Amino acid sequence: MRSTIVGKAQAPQLKLPFDVDKIRNEFPILGETVNGHRLVYLDNAATTHKPQVVIDTISRYYEAQNSNIHRGVHTLSQRGTDAFENARQIVQKFINAPTPSEIIFTRGTTDSINLASQCLAQLVLNAGDEILVSESEHHSNIVPWQMVAAQYGANLIVAPIDDTGEIVIEEFEKRLNAKTKIVSIGHISNALGTINPVREMTRRAHAIGAKVLIDGAQSIAHIGVDVQDLECDLYAFSGHKVFAPTGIGVLYGKRELLEAMPPYQGGGDMIKEVRFEHTEYNDVPYKFEAGTPHIAGAIGLGAALEYLSTIDFRAALAHEDELLNYVSERLNDIDGVRMIGTARDKAAVASFVIDKIHPQDVGLLLDSQGIAVRTGHHCAMPVMQHFGIPGTVRASLSIYNTRHEIDYFIDALLKAKSMLA
Ligand code: PMP
Repeated sequence: MRSTIVGKAQAPQLKLPFDVDKIRNEFPILGETVNGHRLVYLDNAATTHKPQVVIDTISRYYEAQNSNIHRGVHTLSQRGTDAFENARQIVQKFINAPTPSEIIFTRGTTDSINLASQCLAQLVLNAGDEILVSESEHHSNIVPWQMVAAQYGANLIVAPIDDTGEIVIEEFEKRLNAKTKIVSIGHISNALGTINPVREMTRRAHAIGAKVLIDGAQSIAHIGVDVQDLECDLYAFSGHKVFAPTGIGVLYGKRELLEAMPPYQGGGDMIKEVRFEHTEYNDVPYKFEAGTPHIAGAIGLGAALEYLSTIDFRAALAHEDELLNYVSERLNDIDGVRMIGTARDKAAVASFVIDKIHPQDVGLLLDSQGIAVRTGHHCAMPVMQHFGIPGTVRASLSIYNTRHEIDYFIDALLKAKSMLA
């Protein structure tokens, strides 16, 4: 189903053969019981679980390294600083960024896009300019742009999707013009699973001189991301969607662009010198990291990405892809089920509605069987408007899911359907 499983960044890192049972043993929460049943977790697009190594790394940080970073000369502060900066290098390698200075730690994708929009707008946006997004964006990749558009008198332009959930590329191209200063597109839609051709879209946007941000919230754990190959100017993701803690995320930006963009938050650590008359900002990435960061979170993110480099990530994603094909086939076989999002290139997400049954009722009955799915608009209301529905049931996969779990989910869904019909 996926044309690109692993990009250049991950390709050479193949390690131990992929063994789903072994992987599952590394995620303690998967052994939990929910409503008397073994947990079946199919809500990975909302957040992923954490392997023991991430949990242990965070504990160890608080046990042996906890201290504020960058400013201290004492040993603990040095330990904390080294661990934090090491995490930055791990992120750099994972997404194949040219230098660690292009990795800004944020609170997550939402925070990254807010940072990017506020800072980039100061640099490139004027009244009458245009910001281009698509109809399939998450609210986090719509609302921050609406806010800067209102601040600068610019216009938010929307490229439509078709009824399979693919962005209509000719319509996207038609909307690119001399006024387009920023293009911001999701790599993978969280509501539909569509993998967007962001590399090609970036090229086309660059041809008219626009800057490109890719919302990588859903791609970071489902495709090998290589920011140099994508050629994007900015790439945002959240740690918690890739087996790391909540409250930590990343904004990658090309160094020249980051150096040119003014910061939007002021405070400690983002300065070189402060005088009442004038303040000199710090170098990138620190210029964009005002205040004490989520140190344990960054270190946990480093541990999560290192963990992925110890497994055969390519095989893990192939396994996930096989599961997506399987769950899609099984759902398609059920009378009254309509898949929402049937793009040619998809990853990890099976969104659907059932005739005359409210998604929330399905979600509650599945929960009573220990199955976690998400129901509703998935923070993508324009997508729901496109399909004329209030919401979907969404089963979203990760590398630790199994075929057996899919069978159990389908059986429980059939039971729920017969109870609700
Ligand atoms: N964009 C997409 C495509 C997402 O799936 C999400 C999370 N559901 C976000 C942005 C926002 O991520 P976060 O809540 O971690 O900031």
